[in-house]
Amino acid sequence: MKVGILKEIKVMEKRVCMVPTGVATMIANGHQVLVESGAGVGAGFQDDEYRAAGATIAGTPAEVYGACDMVMHVKEPQPSEYDLIREDQIIFTYLHLAADEQQTTALIKAKSVNIAYETIEKKNGSLPLLVPMSEVAGRMAAQVGAHCLEMPQGGIGVLLGGVKGVAPATVVVIGGGVVGYNAAKMACGLGAMVYILDTNLERLAYLDEIMPANCIPVMSNPALLREYVRKADLVIGAVLIPGAKAPKLITRDMLPDMKKGSVIVDVAIDQGGCAETSKATTHADPTFFVDGVLHYCVANMPGAVARTSTIALTNATLPYAVQIANKGWKKAMQENEEIKLGANVIHGAVTYQAVAEAFGLDY
Ligand code: NAD
Repeated sequence: MKVGILKEIKVMEKRVCMVPTGVATMIANGHQVLVESGAGVGAGFQDDEYRAAGATIAGTPAEVYGACDMVMHVKEPQPSEYDLIREDQIIFTYLHLAADEQQTTALIKAKSVNIAYETIEKKNGSLPLLVPMSEVAGRMAAQVGAHCLEMPQGGIGVLLGGVKGVAPATVVVIGGGVVGYNAAKMACGLGAMVYILDTNLERLAYLDEIMPANCIPVMSNPALLREYVRKADLVIGAVLIPGAKAPKLITRDMLPDMKKGSVIVDVAIDQGGCAETSKATTHADPTFFVDGVLHYCVANMPGAVARTSTIALTNATLPYAVQIANKGWKKAMQENEEIKLGANVIHGAVTYQAVAEAFGLDY
């Protein structure tokens, strides 16, 4: 199969969908790889590294779409690419179609085979191509939270780990899933006193088993949450209700009771945020104050560490890409239910229920 690696064109997107070692794996499996010139530059991978791995470099996206059986991206195809997509061509990338009618219509019209990273699902319900980005965002949350607590950023001036004879910061992580666990792990490593609030008892029991002594998993309820938020130096919002907007657990009226210069890192902002006062920000201007509480609400946190994010993402996507390329999409879906669940629009028909429901289409 001819596999195409496109350069990201969405604003501020620096990741790339395959690293040079991934290209070498594809080629070892008997495929040809065409990489759009400069595709890896944002994440620190040069065209020469792709050439050395055996890829051919293409000058334009049109060349890649024109020559390849399967094209890969990180983000969804942009409007300038819609007319380049060919019938029967496999598009393998994050699509997020349920929130994007224009793109759904374009992919239906193109009659391509569209497989979305985000709906590939394991038997246990986990989403293996979303997990790596949650890991990155969680770990970053502790890092940016520690930075925001510093006085030059407007923070309270508390060092996360304290020093000998001085108490560490109090970190409250709301939601102990992938983001929450990773945030807590980093904050604990820096010596903070960490409380993870979750409503899933089984998850709390698991966290209790694996986390160090400076992390206390706590069964959450509204009264308790208010109390913990009031005492926190740093609050990390990491809740998720699958398929729904984030619940507003930190209400407006809680803020006057919080410490001046304390920090909320609302990682759940991509689902609307779990603080009533959160609004999405960008890496260029990431923070704002409400009632003296510093808010950090960047919706694409992994974008700031594009190299780590790229390698983490491609570690997860490559095995699926290789299966699709080796077997063809039909056989890959017949033999692997996880890939089948990735099918969103095939030959003009919507094949993913949530996408069909979002736009009242047949499924
Ligand atoms: P996850 O499903 O692994 O974990 C969510 C946790 O929230 C679960 O343990 C669940 O029990 C808990 N929860 C649900 N309702 C709760 C409540 N009322 N109180 C306390 N806990 C509750 O999800 P995840 O992968 O950790 O993602 C968390 C959030 O981070 C999501 O909104 C996700 O979209 C977002 N995210 C944002 C970025 C970013 O760049 N901003 C990047 C990755 C993920």
